[in-house]
Formats: sequence, structure tokens, C-alpha cells
Amino acid sequence: MGKWMLIAGLTLAFHAAAASGIAPNTMSGWAIVVSDDAIASEKYAASEFQSLFKQATGIELPIMSAPPAGHHNIFIGHGAAMASSSVGFGIEKLGDEGLRIRIKKNNIAIAGGHPRGTLYGVYEFFERYFGVRFLTFDHTYFPDRASLKPLPRDNYTFVPPFSFRWSYYRENSEQPAFAARLRVNTVTNDEKLGGATPQGLIGHSLYKWINPERYGKTHPEYFALVGGERKLEVGGGGPEPCVTNPEVLDIVAEGVIKELDANPSVRNIPVSQNDNADYCRCDRCEAINKREGTPMGSHLAFINAVAERVEKVHPKVKVGTLAYWYTRHAPKTIKPRDNIQIQLCSIECCTLHALDDPSCKKNREFCKDMNAWKAICKDIWIWNYNTDFACYDLPFPNLRSIGANVRFFLKNNVKGVFMQANGNGTSGEMSDLRNYVMSRCLWHPGQESWPLVEEFCRLHYKESAQPILDYLTMLHDNAEQKKVHPGCFPTAMGVGLTPEISQKAFDYFQDALAKAGSDEVRARVEKASICAYKAMILAGGGSWKYEDGVCKRQWNEPRFANIVDQYIDLATRYRLTMAAETVPFPQYVEQLKSQYDVPALRVENDVWRLLVLPDANGRIIEMLHKPTGRNLIAGMTDAGLGKSSHEDIALKGYSDAKPLAFTGAIEGQVIVLKKTLEDGSTFERRIAIDGDAIAFASKLTNETAQPKEYQFKAHPEFDTASNTADSDIVTAYIKDAEWKKINRHWIMDKGPDAGLLKQAQGGGFAFFNHKDKFGVNVSYDPAKIGEPYLFWNPEWSQINLELFTPATELKPGESLSLEYTYRFLGEPPR
Ligand SMILES: [Zn+2]
Ligand SMILES: [Zn+2]
Repeated sequence: MGKWMLIAGLTLAFHAAAASGIAPNTMSGWAIVVSDDAIASEKYAASEFQSLFKQATGIELPIMSAPPAGHHNIFIGHGAAMASSSVGFGIEKLGDEGLRIRIKKNNIAIAGGHPRGTLYGVYEFFERYFGVRFLTFDHTYFPDRASLKPLPRDNYTFVPPFSFRWSYYRENSEQPAFAARLRVNTVTNDEKLGGATPQGLIGHSLYKWINPERYGKTHPEYFALVGGERKLEVGGGGPEPCVTNPEVLDIVAEGVIKELDANPSVRNIPVSQNDNADYCRCDRCEAINKREGTPMGSHLAFINAVAERVEKVHPKVKVGTLAYWYTRHAPKTIKPRDNIQIQLCSIECCTLHALDDPSCKKNREFCKDMNAWKAICKDIWIWNYNTDFACYDLPFPNLRSIGANVRFFLKNNVKGVFMQANGNGTSGEMSDLRNYVMSRCLWHPGQESWPLVEEFCRLHYKESAQPILDYLTMLHDNAEQKKVHPGCFPTAMGVGLTPEISQKAFDYFQDALAKAGSDEVRARVEKASICAYKAMILAGGGSWKYEDGVCKRQWNEPRFANIVDQYIDLATRYRLTMAAETVPFPQYVEQLKSQYDVPALRVENDVWRLLVLPDANGRIIEMLHKPTGRNLIAGMTDAGLGKSSHEDIALKGYSDAKPLAFTGAIEGQVIVLKKTLEDGSTFERRIAIDGDAIAFASKLTNETAQPKEYQFKAHPEFDTASNTADSDIVTAYIKDAEWKKINRHWIMDKGPDAGLLKQAQGGGFAFFNHKDKFGVNVSYDPAKIGEPYLFWNPEWSQINLELFTPATELKPGESLSLEYTYRFLGEPPR
């Protein structure tokens, strides 16, 4: 065909479509038809159609149970009348929620699989042909009526590739009708809304069947052997089972089958590791793990065995298990059975860059694991992380990677996606925008997220959209330029925020507010601006000043003077309910308010200057080594006064918070802190500077009438001044006969040399930054302490050299003490 003919042909086709289209404003003679035997969600779908059509066109169509004579019909759901009409079709191949839309001159049919296909079809219809957008629960966008295009003849089928879609925002669970409009299929059992998918989220579960209360005493061999011990008290839900013990298999398989017998409608069941790294190292388990190159070896062999038994009784049910942390790598030879779902978790990954972005080193391992699983599993699920769990309202630059990540999942046999975000609180950072973008990407995976960001901003923030888009662009550009790779618990610095960027963000929102032309838009912008206030509070500059016994925050511009109060007001008005995953907003407010004017005690000599907050559990927030100007505790930063600190922390027998405050006094060059605990016992701390040493002595005395067990620890959060994960640069040492390096391959509080920590008897614990040439030496009497404990999080530039007291039963009048001394290191310990 020649070029000219092609163009002529296209033009003709366009005219033909337009000519045969149905102009919405001519549809007043049409009727909505939903049969009497339609399911609840189809009847609701008909009423949704009626309401949305009226809002879109101004025309209210009647709802009928059979097609009236002489009308044109919109059939909602599969009924006899629809099936025999000119637009009839069957729904057998559409599953639970696939949909089909047929549009002809005199009839329209929207129907889908039961229970959700028809309802989702109605929403799809209005998005696709009318340009309607479901932005928030109380804001649905309808284009100008004059701009509505004629409905084309069409025959459109869509079956969502992901059968489990969860944009984990509380905005969905609180407003399930809105969640249905976004086609999030995980938050409600309301039949009218189509209910939820009978597939559940795959989470930690083995503790349900093998728990220490039931079997700890009689069958310790059911539990993981770690370091020669069958430990029963383990965090993260409890000890892992020994997965090669045949009785464990019997108990778990029996328990799973029993649960399924009682819940015949469920289609999958989680059988998954608990949430700790203490998997079983017995010879039997380790033999499989060694052969398979991963602890997933023994774990998957176990899950396969459970799944084989489940299949015999419940052939349609899938057994789901996590590939998470130490089970993330696929085994070399063991493959999951066909009735197994693997839920792969990306908790270690960078959130700024897409998972398959080759420029991001942090994500390469995950891609390898994804590929390995894809090769052996047809039913992969994803647990992906989409917020800052340490600070729900901090700017979080991942809006460019959401679409790319979801597309990556689609390419890799993924069937269910859990996008974890601020699910336990409302109004986190840009939550309305994010929920919209995420939900739409999950429904139609493959699309880019940024155009959805633009769409939401233009439609929701209207005349104020541009500065908000400019802010979001700047936030992402800045993070990319700074080459940060934030995970899902980043600090403000970790997402690239500086005083300059925070103030810019603040200014963009002030501009957006000034442009708002109605109270409605102003309210939306105010809500969105909370993150800019948070950026200012955590990274906006200013400084802490100590003067006359009080610490105060000072801002470099007077306009920021009331920023904390303004933030609290906005966050309260727009219902920010959780400040972080585990911090309710009211608790955070107390924390903020306690930092307006904070009483402090200061001692100094030629070598050291210490600043202590008696009211905040006696936290040391400054440990300045004067000869080098190096502050070892970063407790006076934007992140908050005492965000990093050194304090004693209760482990057994009492609580630090009751009461939180010490009474403090300075005696010479000693800070003396005292408090009476809730049970009447006394706690005294003495922090003395003496030449180049800081000597610590804490003493808890049982003043109750009963013997009681107590334990506490010294908890210093030292600033390493480096976020490198290279243990040759930031090195932790323990002294045995000589100093030994211990933090090789260290993650938080675990590493291959952890055993050394417990054994060492040299009474020395230290860290040293070899690049900046500084560190701390902690000396103590090994006979008098319980154990040293190391925590190292490079991402936070933090290392803790902690000392635990032994857990000790004190008779009335007896005391438990902890004594140690710090010295500055200008060279590595020797
Ligand atoms: Zn074992
Ligand atoms: Zn990255």
C-alpha cells in the first residue's frame, strides 16, 4: 500500500468510528439492566453505573431488571437478557475479576467473572471511555461534559495479571468502597464490593504450630539448634523449628490441614519461617543447606513435604512461603512443588532505583534471586517496601521506580503483589497520591508511574499542581544526583535531604498554597505539605544551643521559628495518626514538645565536654573530644535532640520510662543522676571526667521487700562519621589475649565472628575509623559484666559498643553495678 493510501485509509476509519459512536448526551432513552438473580456486587455495580453516569453526563438512567421495550440497554453483569442480546457473551473464562465490555449501537454490556469482574468492569468503563479518575475517597474527577467523546464500538476484555493486589494504605482499609474503585482486592469482605480475594498475604507462621510453650519442655529437639543450643526465647515470633525433624513435619502438616478443613474457602495458606535469623544448624539441616548453597535448602525441602500432604486433601490450595532474608536465595537443586507460592521480599533493596536498574548495585542480588526463582516457580508473590518505616511523613523519593518495579514483577511470573506502605496509619507522606499511583500500576501493570503522578497532581491540586510537581521532580533529581540508595528505614540524609533542599521543598509548598484558588484545593495542598514541614524539622538546618542550663533549637530564618507548632497543627488537622510504623503520632508530639527548652547539665575539662539531659533518661547527647573537635555522640542534630545518645537501658525488672526523668546534679567534674523506679528501687548513675578518661558507674539497688531479677545495659550510639559498610574502614574490636577485629560481614548485631564477643576475656571493646583516624576504647572488668554486645548500622553511621550486666536476682538491699571507662583513640587499639 502506498503512503497516501495509508493516510486516506486511517482518516476514513476515524470518521467511521466517530460516526458510529454513541454521544453520551443523547443517551437519556437508555436503561441500565441488571437481572434479579445478579449477585450483590453486580447490583451495586448497576447503582455505581447510574451514579457515575449521572455525574459524568447529568442524565439519570433508570435501573431495570429486564430490558424495557423500545429502549437501548446497558447490561450490567451476565444475565439471560444480556446473553441473548446483540452484545451477549459468556463469562466462563474471566476468572474472579476479569471483565469484558461490548459497545454496539443499541446495546452496551459490562460483565465479568464472579464476584468482582462486573463491578471492576464498570469502573474500567468510566476510566476508559469517560476519562473519570478515582483520586481519593471523596474526590472523583469528571471531565467537562462538553469534552466527552462519543462511545466507540468496542469489544474489550481485560483480566488483571496479578490476582492479589494490595496497595497497603490505611486510606483503602478505612474506605473499602474507594479501594474497590481502585481495584484493590484485599481489604474488605463486603459482598456488595465483591469481597476480597480468597488468597491471603503470606507471612511468618511456623510459630503457630511449633511453639515453645507447647513443646519447649517436652521436645526441645523440635527447635532450631543454634550455637550448640536449642534456644526457646527468640524474638521475631519465636524460635525456628528444626525443619528436618520428621515429627515437626507431622505436626505442621496436620495443623495446616486442620486449619484448611475449618476454612474451606481459602485458596492459599502461609507456611513460613518466623522473623529471626536463628534457623537450625543441626547436622541434618546443615547437610542440606550446604549442598543447596542456602538455608532455603532445608526450608524448601520441608515446605515441599508439607505441600505434598496438603495436596492430597486440599488439591486446590496453595502453600505459600517467604523467600526472605536468609531464605531469599533459591536452592541449587530443590524446586518448589507446583502447589507452592514463593513470596519474595525486597527488604534489603534500594527504593530510589528500580529493582532492575543496572546502575544500582544494591539491587543486583535481588534481581539474581528473582531470576533464579522465576526459573523454578510459576507462582511468585512479591513483598515490596514503599515507605520510610522509621518516619512515615518524610519525603520518600520512589515515585519514579514504582511503575518500573511493578513491570519487573509482571515479567517474572509474579501473581500477587503486596506493596507495603503506611498501612497502619493515615495521611503519611503524599499518601493520597501514592495510593493512587500504586493501585493503578497494580491493576494495569506495565505503565510508568510518573505520568500517573502528573495526572494525580494536575487533577487533585489543580492550580497548585505545578509547584508540587516541581518539588517532586527536585526531590527525585536531588536523590539521584547525590547517589543515595535509601532502603525502607532511611534517615533524612539517606534520602538526600539537606538544609538547602528542605528549605526549597518548603518554599515549593508555600508557592502551591499561595496559588490555591479555593478552600478545597488549599486543604489538599496543606495535607500534602506535611512532608515539607517534616523535612524542615529533621533536616532544615538551624542548630541546637546550650545556654544557662537549657538546650534550645535555633533557626537561621525567623519564618521557621514556629515550624514545629505548625507541623503539629497540620498533621493533627489532616489526621496523621502514626509518625512511624511503631510510633503513634501523639507520642511523637510529646517527643517534639519535650525538645522546646530542655534542661541540661554540662561538665568539661581540657579533654572532654559532656552534655546530659536528666529529664530524658539521663541521655548524654554530646561527648566532645576537645583536642580533635570530634563529637562521638551525634545527639544535637536536626534529627532531634538526643536522637543519638548514650544512656542506660532497662532489660529486666523495671522500665526506663517509669519515671523517665532523673534528678541531676554536678559534683566537681561528676554528673550524678538519681531516680526512684516505679517499684521503689533506686537507680544511680555517676559520669565522671578525669583527665583523658570518662568513667561510668551505674548502680541499681533493690529497695523492694522481695528478691527480684534485674538487668540493664549501657547503650552508647557512637557516631562513626561514615556510612561505609567496609569493616576495614570502620572496624570494631574486642580484646582477648590481644585485640581482634569482629565486625567482618556484620549485619546489625550478627556476624561470623560474634562468638569472639562472648569468649573474649581481655576487658576491652573498641571501634576505630581508619579513614578519619578516631575511635573509642571501652575498658571494663570481664568478670563483672554479663556480655558485650555490638550493633553496627552503616546506613545510620552508628556503632554501639554495649555492655550488659548479668541478669541478677537481687535480695532486698542488694545492688547491681556496671562500671567501665571510655578513652579516645587516635590510632587503632593495640
Ligand atoms: Zn535441624
Ligand atoms: Zn539504588
